[in-house]
Amino acid sequence: MWTNQQLVLASGNRGKLREFSKLFDDFGTEVIPQSDLGIESPEETGLSFIENALLKARHASAAAHLPAMADDSGLVMPALDGAPGLYSARFAGADATDQDNLNLLLERLQGFSPEDRQGHYICALALVRHATDPDPLVVIGRWNGRILETPRGDGGFGYDPAFLPDGLDQTAAELDSETKNRLSHRGIAVAELRSQLR
Ligand code: IMP
Repeated sequence: MWTNQQLVLASGNRGKLREFSKLFDDFGTEVIPQSDLGIESPEETGLSFIENALLKARHASAAAHLPAMADDSGLVMPALDGAPGLYSARFAGADATDQDNLNLLLERLQGFSPEDRQGHYICALALVRHATDPDPLVVIGRWNGRILETPRGDGGFGYDPAFLPDGLDQTAAELDSETKNRLSHRGIAVAELRSQLR
């Protein structure tokens, strides 16, 4: 059972703060974004989502002397050797917008069969009790789907307008945010971490 009173979230994103704070509602834990403590993100040098989530959590924990949690997420297309993968946010370059990244993905997938347009979102969450915790809690959420040729919808973000989740006929950008949060890679990872915290 998780009993700590304070935890640093290694992300400055307000939307994520809201979603991840819910994780700890029952535990009376105060979730503090690392930006409130003046902690900057480290370079993401890992080769996987798990490695990057762990290195961000350890970095925040070392700087704050508190337990810390971090996430790392992205879209994986096996037919593109896993791209955009760890580089999902900057697939089309360091200053790329979501639209630039989506356009590049659609371009790379031109002429691909429906099978080769299959991919998944991944969300890794890592929670360390202290900076050198040898037994961190690490979970992965995965959301399978495929990338359509023609994007639809204006909700969500990133690659959502082109991402058709398996078993649905609405793209991730056409789902209301509550439904997306429940079904998504992040929702799955959050639910898994909650069950591990108990
Ligand atoms: P981050 O982990 O928030 O930095 O996300 C990395 C990148 O992965 C985002 O900028 C998006 O391009 C992509 N991504 C992660 N989660 C989602 C999602 O739920 N929908 C769409 N794109 C996502």
